[in-house]
Amino acid sequence: MPLVTSTEMFKKAYDGGYAIGAFNVNNMEIVQGITEAARDLSAPLILQVSKGARAYANHTYLVKLVEAAVIECPNIPIVLHLDHGPDFETCKSCIDGGFTSVMIDASGKPFAENIEITKKVVEYAHDHGVVVEAELGTLAGIEDDVKVKSEDSSYTHPEEVEEFVSKSGCDSLAIAIGTSHGAYKFKPGTKPQLRFDVLEEVSRRLPGFPIVLHGSSSVPKEFVEKINKFGGNMPGAVGVPEDQLRHAAELSVCKINIDSDLRLAMTACIREHFAEAPSDFDPRQYLKPARQAIKDMVSHKIVDVLGCDHKA
Ligand SMILES: [Zn+2]
Repeated sequence: MPLVTSTEMFKKAYDGGYAIGAFNVNNMEIVQGITEAARDLSAPLILQVSKGARAYANHTYLVKLVEAAVIECPNIPIVLHLDHGPDFETCKSCIDGGFTSVMIDASGKPFAENIEITKKVVEYAHDHGVVVEAELGTLAGIEDDVKVKSEDSSYTHPEEVEEFVSKSGCDSLAIAIGTSHGAYKFKPGTKPQLRFDVLEEVSRRLPGFPIVLHGSSSVPKEFVEKINKFGGNMPGAVGVPEDQLRHAAELSVCKINIDSDLRLAMTACIREHFAEAPSDFDPRQYLKPARQAIKDMVSHKIVDVLGCDHKA
């Protein structure tokens, strides 16, 4: 099947109490690792591209890699989504360039301006059969060009969501309930806890409306330890506990963004490989197991966190 929008998959995910995994793609091995996992598990899938990914790999390469994945995985619906579109122009360029979904992130702007910018993107996107994710509230952390200090982050105010969604016309909404970008989400030693009270209040005000969680890697200890064991330096990396993400998926959260965990899996695998086979210099020797490590990580997320296996 050709690339699809997320409309149908979100509806099924909302009703079925699971979430769709949105994984960031930057090169061929990452695209292959993610899509092979989803294909083998018959899981609907969102592949997303950030502004940084477009700068790194170039728009055309990424679109063509994803189109190749669509041909290789005829059994599953795949969405091609722009992650954190910073402005109308970037969104337009992705809409014109084959994406089926875009995010406009004007969450750093004042409320009225966020609505105005989002609405402009929604009008153009809907005219072209593309859906739009918007954001209300700000997440801490670093993702490509999006850098927010934790003191500048803020939880979503539930009393704002109805006005925002009805005036902007967005199709899904990313909210801030304590997740954050990157591998250092919570202070070491503290107990990570998402604000389910905020999520529940948002859902009560927007019945049936798909909610999105960004920054939802769990930063598994064994991968951080492996990276550190084989020459890395990532002290104090902490993520969101997987059981809390599973719970969010059972509620109104229909899309969960996971990126750092794939990076950790890939990096841990490559570091281990070089430590154990120092004479290897053919990229295929270390990218092949790295691709498998991504596939294993995504399979685990699909089954144990998102609950979206065999939902295609
Ligand atoms: Zn994000």
